[in-house]
Amino acid sequence: MSLSKRVVSSFLSRIARIVLVEEQNGTLEVSGKYNEMQAVMPRLKSLGFRWDPSKKVWYGSTSKLTALKRKNLDKLIAEANGEDPASNTQPVDPEEERRQKEEQENKRKEHAAKIQEALRKHGGKWPLQGVYVQQFEGAFQFAGDTFPIKEQIKKLFPFAKYGNNSWVIYSEHATERAVEEMFSYLDRREAAHKEHELKIKSVLDRNKEGWPSLGVKADSNYVGGFVIGGNTYPYKDTIRGHFSDAKFQSSGWYVPYVSVSEQEVGRFISIMDKKESEKAAESPSVSVGPRKKKNQKGGECRTCGAYVAPEEGYLWENFSWEEGSDEPRWYVTHQDKKVCDAVIEEARIRANEAHTRNQARQNLRNLAAKPEHYVGGTGHQPQGEEIALDDGHLRIYGGGEWVVIEPGGQHFWYVRNNGADGDDWSHNNVTTGGAGAIGYRLPMTEEARVLLDVATGKTKLKVAKTAYNYDRSNR
Ligand SMILES: [Zn+2]
Repeated sequence: MSLSKRVVSSFLSRIARIVLVEEQNGTLEVSGKYNEMQAVMPRLKSLGFRWDPSKKVWYGSTSKLTALKRKNLDKLIAEANGEDPASNTQPVDPEEERRQKEEQENKRKEHAAKIQEALRKHGGKWPLQGVYVQQFEGAFQFAGDTFPIKEQIKKLFPFAKYGNNSWVIYSEHATERAVEEMFSYLDRREAAHKEHELKIKSVLDRNKEGWPSLGVKADSNYVGGFVIGGNTYPYKDTIRGHFSDAKFQSSGWYVPYVSVSEQEVGRFISIMDKKESEKAAESPSVSVGPRKKKNQKGGECRTCGAYVAPEEGYLWENFSWEEGSDEPRWYVTHQDKKVCDAVIEEARIRANEAHTRNQARQNLRNLAAKPEHYVGGTGHQPQGEEIALDDGHLRIYGGGEWVVIEPGGQHFWYVRNNGADGDDWSHNNVTTGGAGAIGYRLPMTEEARVLLDVATGKTKLKVAKTAYNYDRSNR
């Protein structure tokens, strides 16, 4: 530090509470009194500053600060020192000041409108990637399966903020060009997905009949992936071994197109072809169907997974059992396949119900977490009936979300905990036991009430009466 700077700094440290020192080599240092530093620390962190424990200063590099960030830094320090930023400049005519403010506001609105228009021009949906854009007043977000595109978002929108499975960007932080560039990037990716999907479909469709002797078939008439269905149980290891992302669903093993290559699908088909020809070559006199008898003990049905009471199902001899394999020698099933079908159907409905609940939670977030509902100031402590939107176990780690319905029920708060390490705490306006949370307050409209009731399980969703229910009620 030069001598003159040293003098200035030591003088300032006596009158100012926080001092910013700029060194010749492009390093910025911020130090000051404990209480004031506590207040500015989260903002410094988000501006890219680091703590130097040996010098007891926060330091950063001038080269990493954009003009806007630099302005924010100066403002932050001036505010922490209790200075009025306007007093640093020449006194201005209040009329002139008002006009300038209005002009700035108009420019901001005009820019926001342009961004919204750019978003509108495009549909904002890329179904094969599972990505879509949602618009709000003054902001927009990329939602859905955003993990693979997060680097591109961060590159084009450095101020984008991640939360609730989506990336939020305020219009003032976006350029039209960045929006266009992001969309054409997503369009190109979508086209590549389509091409990849068509290639794999054509490989699958050459094998439309499947493997009749094995009773297995691969079906490409699904969205985003194909399904290997039928008698897949004996081949589950082959399927899992080839397709690590395969998931078992009621219709069979679902394999997302994005997770596999054409070659992998080709290899799987030739292995199944080999098994098929071996099976077809078996002499019918040697091949015996599995033997079955009534089950003495209860057990889990191999088809549907539900419990089968003693004597109420079949016990089957399992011929696919081999020495050293962990496959069971015997297994039980329900006697009536209709029961299994009903159990599987009921599981599907339950899964749908969970999906609906998650969707309601997401819609509630989208409804509440808008800039216009954000409550200014800090230290708010919403009072009223508190309802968790999750099981609450994340709260001690600074995560989780909940609502607080104010007495009288006219308004409610949506609160998202924001106290985890690595969170930007500067927007926290609600006090918690931890670092704080972000709270939005809004009227309890009909829409909000419905979403809230579904999201918290207060509304029982209709479950279709299945054959399984019918069977049980008649026993
Ligand atoms: Zn069953």
